[in-house]
Amino acid sequence: ARTKIVAGNWKMNKTVAEAVSLVEELTKELAGFSGCEVILCPPFTALTSVAKLLHSSPRIQLGAQNLHPALQGAFTGEISAAMLREAGCRFVIVGHSERRRYFGETDAFLREKLLAAVAAGLRPIFCVGEELPDRESGRWPAHLRSQIQGVLHGLPVDVLSAIVLAYEPIWAIGTGRNARPEQAQEAHALLRKEIERLHGTAVAARMCIQYGGSVTPQNARELLSQPDVDGLLVGGASLNARSFTSILLSV
Ligand code: 13P
Repeated sequence: ARTKIVAGNWKMNKTVAEAVSLVEELTKELAGFSGCEVILCPPFTALTSVAKLLHSSPRIQLGAQNLHPALQGAFTGEISAAMLREAGCRFVIVGHSERRRYFGETDAFLREKLLAAVAAGLRPIFCVGEELPDRESGRWPAHLRSQIQGVLHGLPVDVLSAIVLAYEPIWAIGTGRNARPEQAQEAHALLRKEIERLHGTAVAARMCIQYGGSVTPQNARELLSQPDVDGLLVGGASLNARSFTSILLSV
C-alpha cells in the first residue's frame, strides 16, 4: 500500500512570527502522530524558522511553494533548488494552478523545474487540474491527459519516481466546493492510467496522488477512503492548527 502524504500549502499567508506559533501548536498536537507523512509548505521567509522547529518531529517535513530551475544567476526575486535544500526543504510544489494562471508558467518551464528539483534532491509535488468549463463540458479527461503528457512525457524514471502528483480541480480551490469523492477517484484513476501509459505499471502503482481543493475536516476522510486518493493538498484548512490536525487525524 502507498504511504499517505498530507501537505499544507500556506500560500502567501503567515509572517515568521505567525508561522512559528502555528508550527509550535502543530508539533504539540501531533507529538507521537504516525498516521501519514505530513508536509508543511510555508512562504520562503518562514522556511528556516519552521525547519528549526521541525528538527524533533521526523514525521513532519518541510516543503517550499515554488523554485526557479536555474542553478544560480540573474533571476531577481527567484529561489533555487539548492537554496531550498539548504533551508531544510524536502519537497517543493511545482505547477500550482495559481502559478500557471497568475505567473504564466508553461509546461516547458514546469518540466525544467521538475528536473532541477529532483537533481537537487527535492521531491516535487506536481499539480494538475481542470477549470470549471472543462469539468462541465466533460472535456476534463482530455485536459488532464494533456497536462500530464505535456510535462511528464519522456522524463527519466528517477524524476518520475520522485514526484508526488496532486489533482487540484481549479473549480474546487478556495471555493468551498470540493470534488465529490467519486469525482476525485475517477480523476485519480485516469491520472494513474496516464502515468502507466507513459512510464509503466511500477512507477504508476507507486505514485502518490493527492487530492486538493476545499479539503476540510468534514470531507477529508471520505476523500481519502477512495482507492486512488493517496493524500491531500490542503490550502485554507492548513492555516489553523485545529483544522489541519483534525484532517490529519482522519487519515
Ligand atoms: P484550498 O484548500 O484553500 O481550497 O486550496 C487548495 C490548494 O490550492 C492547495 O494547493
